[in-house]
Amino acid sequence: MTLEERARRERMLERAAAVATACRKCQIGSERRHNVYGEGDPCARLMVIGEGPGETEDLLGRPFVGRAGELLDKMLAAIDLPREDVYICNTVKCRPTVNDGGKLRNRAPLPAEMANCRPFLDEQIDIIAPQVILALGAPAAKSFLGNTFSITRSRGIWFEGPNAIPLIATFHPAYILRQGGMALTDTKRQVWSDLKQVREKLDALRQSPAAQAGVPEQADLFESPRVL
Ligand code: SF4
Repeated sequence: MTLEERARRERMLERAAAVATACRKCQIGSERRHNVYGEGDPCARLMVIGEGPGETEDLLGRPFVGRAGELLDKMLAAIDLPREDVYICNTVKCRPTVNDGGKLRNRAPLPAEMANCRPFLDEQIDIIAPQVILALGAPAAKSFLGNTFSITRSRGIWFEGPNAIPLIATFHPAYILRQGGMALTDTKRQVWSDLKQVREKLDALRQSPAAQAGVPEQADLFESPRVL
């Protein structure tokens, strides 16, 4: 990738982010503190897409920060992908909330909100042109694969995503953090299996230094008791 191409993509993403920041198409556009457009390498081979910003993301204007973001960073590091080498965003750019007795709580984005925001996401995918897309959680996966998609049945399976890009889904880090006991052990095993598939797909598409070094047999991404 030439420096000129990288700069061209950065400019395009900056312009698109400015348009998203001015957008008030949904009610949540008027309620959020920051538009969380996305961040990362404009030439990333992997694009990670979650459902929507949460409270910490809304506060900081960055996707996947806070505890779920820390876990995502560990998940990516476990397959030898530093966060800065990946592009990370969500299906909606504004935080979806529900008023719960005066306190705003996170909620999944509504289909109408995802539809309103889809042009921003499509534009990001067009600009970055990743080789692989990783959808985190059922709402993000359903936005590409339809409402019949089941994260429990169909995670870890490759699908043809937008622009014919290979797409795979796994559990959202926030979901992993809510698990305990045997459920946590099972979820970790499944997520690690999915992540290895991402690594193998990237390596198959282009033999990388990580492939030559070998993927570790087991992830240490879940070992921090503070995170879980
Ligand atoms: S969620 Fe997307 S479409 Fe809706 S107001 Fe925010 S930027 Fe606009």
